[in-house]
Amino acid sequence: MERVPPLEGIMSPTKTEKTYRLIINHKYCKFATCEICIGLCPVKNLVIKNNQVTDLGLCIGCKLCERYCPDIAIELEEVNESGKTAPTGE
Ligand code: SF4
Ligand code: SF4
Repeated sequence: MERVPPLEGIMSPTKTEKTYRLIINHKYCKFATCEICIGLCPVKNLVIKNNQVTDLGLCIGCKLCERYCPDIAIELEEVNESGKTAPTGE
């Protein structure tokens, strides 16, 4: 009988070769009554630090925070090898 791989191995987010940078517009962010992005991030990359949403540099580019932020306060950019950034295409 064929063995079924553990679900955890399939569902776990994996770090890709790409690097991502988050632009967080703190002027629009209402973290005190929100924190949606913090709850959604699969790699716990977003935390409240110094009274604002902060990127810990672990982003895997899933775009959940960008998509579901009700105040459009997060923008995701892909950083290429030369350090230049480009929109992620959405
Ligand atoms: S989802 Fe948007 S508004 Fe809510 S805490 Fe995150 S960045 Fe701020
Ligand atoms: S894009 Fe995904 S992995 Fe990156 S910070 Fe947002 S929710 Fe987390």
